[in-house]
Amino acid sequence: MTQSADTGTIDEQRWRALVVRERDASFFYGVITTGIFCRPGCPSRLPRREHTVFFTSAEKAETAGYRPCRRCRPDEIEPSNIQRIIDACRRIEQAHQIPSLQELAAQAKLSPAHFQRVFKAACGLSPKAYGQYLQNRRFKKHLKTAPSVTDAIYRAGFGASSRAHASGRDHLGMKPHEYRTGAPRQTIHYGITTCFLGWLLVAATSKGICAIELGDDRQQLEEHLHENFNQAIIKPADGGFSTVLAKVVTYLEHTEHPFPLPLDIRGTAFQQQVWDTLRTIRPGETKSYQDIARMIGRPEAVRAVAGACATNRTALAIPCHRAVRADGAAGAYRWGLSRKLALIRHEQKFLNQEERPTASLADENQAQGV
Ligand SMILES: [Zn+2]
Repeated sequence: MTQSADTGTIDEQRWRALVVRERDASFFYGVITTGIFCRPGCPSRLPRREHTVFFTSAEKAETAGYRPCRRCRPDEIEPSNIQRIIDACRRIEQAHQIPSLQELAAQAKLSPAHFQRVFKAACGLSPKAYGQYLQNRRFKKHLKTAPSVTDAIYRAGFGASSRAHASGRDHLGMKPHEYRTGAPRQTIHYGITTCFLGWLLVAATSKGICAIELGDDRQQLEEHLHENFNQAIIKPADGGFSTVLAKVVTYLEHTEHPFPLPLDIRGTAFQQQVWDTLRTIRPGETKSYQDIARMIGRPEAVRAVAGACATNRTALAIPCHRAVRADGAAGAYRWGLSRKLALIRHEQKFLNQEERPTASLADENQAQGV
């Protein structure tokens, strides 16, 4: 068989990228003799050309019967890309108008096609779809406070009002001007502090924590609290509340389990059941919405489970960030995908560090060729 460099097929180009272990190449290769598939940058020994097959995605390699390599972890998102995706999520979350794919890809230093693929694998939706989702959410919020619907459309960053009306019907389930909220009458005290995810607000009734919110600035968090509990009497807490705040931050930073404070949360029996199940998922672990549906004995209720996760108002305490999609993508998060990805990574990293001191475990992995 002859291989000519100038008339090389796509597979020949991939082979050449593999020979030089090109890390950024966007394909996977399987080794026929071992049944294992790898990333091009894998530190394992280079297979022979005739034993090598190429795939455009990890999913296709798995479908073809190949198992993911335990060294280069081709079924997981590369650690170097996770930070890029977190940064891209932040950019989308902070932008008034949705940044273009080209713009985001350039900032991530990846090709648009590669960036789009990694983003979708990590988040479960395209950057554009995420931008639109956030825009609709802003629109919904502005409808409550803006003097007119037109004003809300402008403030949400929509280009054309017709699109906002269409999106309003799709996402609110009602016409924009009909959207209103309510909340039960109660007294709520709150405190605000900072953490590695930005600003953190903790609010409590006399019975327990009723809200934990994450945000980019203090004022925004206070506004959210007033909006979400708009019939409650809301007051800043006194100095004694600082121990409560400290407990929440310690819980977050040291990935403690379970959450150390009582909660005062209201929801339907179904929501409560989902939230209770979420609280059994340990830090560093994730469960799919399907898993959770099975755990509560309602395997058919996957969408409703995802919905119950989305209505959680106590970030961290009810760890809805540990609920992900079945394909491993993050799925939705009320406080932003950048935070969900950062939280999952923080918990996994922290737990790995905890385990590292046991040398025997590392040796065992070595022996297994990990
Ligand atoms: Zn490998």
